Amino acid sequence: MGTIDGLPPLREVIRAHDLVAKKQLGQNFLLDLNLTAKIARMAGDLSACDVLEVGPGPGGLTRGLLAEGARRVLVVEKDPRCVPALEEIAAAHPGRVEIVLGDALDLDLTGRLTGPIRIVANLPYNVGTELLIRWLSPKVWPPFWTSLTLMFQKEVAERIVAKPKGEHYGRLALLSQWRTDAKIVMHLPPEAFTPAPKVHSAVVHLTRLEVPRFDAEAGVLSRVTAMAFNQRRKMLRSSLKGLGGDVEALLTDVGIAPTARAEEIGLEGFCALARAVARRDQERAAAPA
Ligand code: SAM
Repeated sequence: MGTIDGLPPLREVIRAHDLVAKKQLGQNFLLDLNLTAKIARMAGDLSACDVLEVGPGPGGLTRGLLAEGARRVLVVEKDPRCVPALEEIAAAHPGRVEIVLGDALDLDLTGRLTGPIRIVANLPYNVGTELLIRWLSPKVWPPFWTSLTLMFQKEVAERIVAKPKGEHYGRLALLSQWRTDAKIVMHLPPEAFTPAPKVHSAVVHLTRLEVPRFDAEAGVLSRVTAMAFNQRRKMLRSSLKGLGGDVEALLTDVGIAPTARAEEIGLEGFCALARAVARRDQERAAAPA
C-alpha cells in the first residue's frame, strides 16, 4: 500500500527499528499517516514556516508536516531508539529535517529556527502542559512562535478553552486566552493511538495575539489568579486575603463583587484586578516610610 511520501508504513518502521512503545516516555504513537497529515493541516500554512516538533517518536507527525509542505522541521526527541527512523525521513527530504536528541524541557532551540515558527507536538500530557505554560509565559511578548498545535488529554484541552462558570475554567484558560486565540480543532479516540491510552485526546490550536487581549503585568496576573483559584470555592474577599490591605476595596474599585468566586470572573475582570493591584503596590512602594 502506498504512503503519503513513499517511505514505508509506520508499522514496518516500528518493526524494523524495534520501537516497542515505552510507557515511561508516554509513547502512544499515531500510525495513520492520513491522520497525521490532517493534524499537520490544522497547524495552518506551513510552506513558509519552520516547524518545531517536540517528541516525534517514529515520525508519523513529522511525515505529515513534511507532506503538508513545511519549509523545515526541527524535531526534538528524548528516546535515542527513534533516531534511525527519523534519519530515514531526513534522508528522504534533504535539507528539510534536523534531528536533536534530548529532553525538550532542558533545551532552548530558538537559535536553530528561522521565523515564522510554528510549534507542533504530540507529547506525553505532563510534558505538553509544562511546555505550554512555558511557551505562554515568556518575559517579552510576542514570543518566538506564531502558533502552537498540540495534542492533549481531552480534559486538559477543555481546560485551555474553558469559559467562566464551567467546571474546567481556571488558570490555564486565563493564561491561554489572555495571549492567544485557542481552539479545539480535532478530537481523537483512544484507538487512534498505538498502544491505545485510557483517555480521549484532542488537538488544540493556539494562535498568538500580537498584544495580550487586555493590559496587565504577567507576574501580577499570575499571582492574583493563582491565589483566586487555589481556593476556587471561596469568595474572593477571602481567597485573595494574601494580597494584603483592603481587598474588598480593590475588588469593588474594579467592579467585582467581593462575594464573587474565582470561577465567575472573566479574563477582563482578572486583568483589571491585576492592574489595580500593580497600581496599589507601586503607590505603597513610593509612599514615604
Ligand atoms: N509524535 C509521535 C506520534 O505522534 O506518533 C510520538 C508521540 S508519543 C505520545 C510522545 C513522544 O515524545 C515519544 O516519542 C517520547 O519519546 C517523546 N518524549 C517524551 N518526553 C519527551 C521530552 N521531554 N522531550 C522530547 N521528547 C519527549
